[in-house]
Amino acid sequence: TGGVVDAVADALRLADDVRRLEVRANADTPADAARARRFGAQGIGLCRTEHMFLGERRTLVEEMILARDAAGRDRVLDALLHLQRQDFVGILAAMDGLPVTIRLLDPPLHEFLPDRTELALRVGVAEARGEQPDPRDAELLDAVRRMHEENPMLGLRGVRLGLVVPGLFAVQVRAVAEAVVERTRAGGSPKAEIMVPLVGDVTELRLVREEAEQVLARVADTSGIPVHCPVGTMIELPRAALTAGRIAEEAEFFSFGTNDLTQTTWGFSRDDVEAAFFSAYLDKGVFAASPFETIDREGVGRLVGIAVREGRAARPDLKIGVCGEHGGDPGSVHFFHAAGLDYVSCSPFRVPVARLEAGRATGAGDTTSDTR
Ligand code: PEP
Ligand code: MG
Repeated sequence: TGGVVDAVADALRLADDVRRLEVRANADTPADAARARRFGAQGIGLCRTEHMFLGERRTLVEEMILARDAAGRDRVLDALLHLQRQDFVGILAAMDGLPVTIRLLDPPLHEFLPDRTELALRVGVAEARGEQPDPRDAELLDAVRRMHEENPMLGLRGVRLGLVVPGLFAVQVRAVAEAVVERTRAGGSPKAEIMVPLVGDVTELRLVREEAEQVLARVADTSGIPVHCPVGTMIELPRAALTAGRIAEEAEFFSFGTNDLTQTTWGFSRDDVEAAFFSAYLDKGVFAASPFETIDREGVGRLVGIAVREGRAARPDLKIGVCGEHGGDPGSVHFFHAAGLDYVSCSPFRVPVARLEAGRATGAGDTTSDTR
């Protein structure tokens, strides 16, 4: 096996020598970041901060829902600040010297709210027994019912949540800035970037960016340590791609969220790609491969092409990447190379494949991107 390992190492070295595309990884924990680095990732292209609130930190989401007044909300935000600062310090340490793109919260509500059926059951059982239900359960159930959405993936997510819940994004930005300060004081070279999800209009991004820059300046001021964090946006809605020239005026980088962009361009729910109807539909031969796996060049790819062209026309130094699942799909990597992207970002295990394909794409001189 030594021979095989050496051959793979040689192939990767060759690919790294020629490739123009940078390869980053998607990672949400210091352990994943370290793994990605061992696989040769040149940074983190997507750190999904909402993943940090699954598991035992769900109680924090409940506390936020139950907070009665501004003081109560501030207490929850303060707890969030401390946890996130630790999270970011760990990831920035694992990726020291390399860019880490931290995405502000983008939780589809149904994945993060307490389970409505479970709450209803607990409350119902107590009532049926003639007992008083746990007041916390009753209150949460009431809140969850009020917040229910028929289409959570098209609902209160990403930048929408950030604009509607006061202080939420500001606290995350502060955690990033303070983590940068802490790492700098420890002698590190933190390179954090802040990314805004689900932007459809330039105004959404401008509002968040202005708030973020105030927070960054404040932390730099009080710490005496310069904090430079580029602020950029996901391009994951057709409207964002079509208005990319305007959006680029407020963004230092773009990252294509091809999962949502595929969902919203086709109108297929990404949560239902495992459903029986979708595989039955795949069998009809309408598309050669699932558009959620291999980039759909004629539709989604064309939106990518428009956004690259108009984004760079407005801001020639705009950095552009992709962090949807397609970033690690070999055929799609060739497409992104040809479309002129700066980097692809994929799960840590797909990094070596992406490096190889990026090398092959450069070697093959792929220039036709079908993005007219
Ligand atoms: C995407 O939409 O492609 C993306 C990377 O974001 P998420 O999968 O977290 O929605
Ligand atoms: Mg997305």
